[in-house]
Formats: sequence, structure tokens, C-alpha cells
Amino acid sequence: MIIAANWKMNCLKKESTILVNELIKAENLFKTSEVIIFPSFSLLSHVYSKIHSSNIKLGAQDCSFFDHGAFTGQVSVEMIIDAGCEYVILGHSERRIICNETSEDISKKLLKSFPLGLNTIICIGENLQDREDKTYLSVLKNQIKLSLSNFDKLDFNFSNNKLIIAYEPIWAIGTGKVATEQNINEVHGFIKSFIKDYFKTKINIPVIYGGSVNEDNSKDIFKIDNVDGVLIGGASLKSRSFLKIIENST
Ligand code: PEP
Repeated sequence: MIIAANWKMNCLKKESTILVNELIKAENLFKTSEVIIFPSFSLLSHVYSKIHSSNIKLGAQDCSFFDHGAFTGQVSVEMIIDAGCEYVILGHSERRIICNETSEDISKKLLKSFPLGLNTIICIGENLQDREDKTYLSVLKNQIKLSLSNFDKLDFNFSNNKLIIAYEPIWAIGTGKVATEQNINEVHGFIKSFIKDYFKTKINIPVIYGGSVNEDNSKDIFKIDNVDGVLIGGASLKSRSFLKIIENST
């Protein structure tokens, strides 16, 4: 299972050190699952210095689609790798909504992150209106088509890194409302078969679920068909909850 911890804009050095030390102490839990933490850009090097000899992997919450130059405030893929990252999250709904990031932007970022060797998690998800109107599958289809429009340019034969889809219904993020087993099963199955058909590929793209995952509901989520892992926000900031989720994944 893939267990991804999105710290969002939380933690200073001191808190991150405490959290990471607690995780390292329980490292024996990490034998079967891939555990990745995604701190803010400012913490990447600091966190890397703590985890580099552990089994915990490091990721960034975004990257630029430019290589370098006059792009104030942006962080390139090369810089992220230089800070110790093996993963990047692209297109989180908070970036799509708050920063007006489009699926076209995400597609350009993927074309930078994947060829340079980063495992890339692309987030997709419908809002409450889409779910209630029952248009969610076509919304997701559109997000996949546009965010992965460069799929054919990615060389899966020569890359060891993975492309991962995170299904994160917006109505379930940070709300305490979790998608039902049927919701998750239907959508994950749909994403996997749509990618195979639309991009005419045999590559198996892992699909992870995100949206109010916690220590109580994670055991059942891991049992659902087509779930290859979870993306966790709030519960990843509390070491006890996060470690319990990891334990439930094994
Ligand atoms: C997220 O931010 O990706 C997320 C799923 O948050 P939460 O677990 O807090 O709902």
C-alpha cells in the first residue's frame, strides 16, 4: 500500500522533528507499505536530514512547470530532487481551487516531474454538486484526459518511477465525510479501466483514496478492491493516528 501524508501548510522545524522522530521510532511498521511525507517546501531539507537513512520517503506538494529562471516564488523539479524528494503531488484540489491551477498546468508539470524520475501523484476529484448531479464520472474523465494529456510522452519502459492517481472527492477532504465503500470501489475501478482504454496502455496505474481517512476508517478502506493506498491530510499530523493507519495497511 502507498501511504502518503500531505502536511499542507502546517508544521515548523520543531514540530516536524517531533513528528518524524515518532515515526522513525516505529519504523518496524513500514515493512510492507511505502510511506511518504509531504512537508512544505521550507521544511524539505530539514525533514530529509532526519529521514534519509530511514524507510520514510520524502515528497513535495507541488512543482513548477518551468526549469529555472525568472519565476519568483516557484520551485523546480530539479530543486525538489536536490532537497531529497522522490515524490511530488500535483493538482491537489486546494491548488486547483485556491491557486486556480488547471488540468493543463498539471499536464505540463507531469511532463517535467516524471521524466526526471519523480514518482508523481495526480489528484482528481469531483465536488458535491457533481456528485449530487451524478455527473462525477464525466468530471473525473475530463480531469484525467486533460491532466494526463502528455501520457504518450512518458517513457514507462525506461522509468522505475510511478505515476499514481489520487481520487480525492472534494466533499470528503477535511470534512469528516468519507466516501462509501461503493463510491470508492466504483470510482477506482472506473479510473483504472478508463486510463487503460483511453491511453491504450497495459500499465497498471495505482489509484489511492484521499478524504478524511483516519485511524478508525482506514482498515475498511484498505480492504476495498482497487484501493492501492491512501492520501492523508489531517490525520497525518498526529503521529498516533498516522502510525495506526500504517499498521492497518499491513
Ligand atoms: C488531503 O488534503 O489530501 C486530504 C485528504 O485531507 P484530509 O485527510 O484532512 O481530508
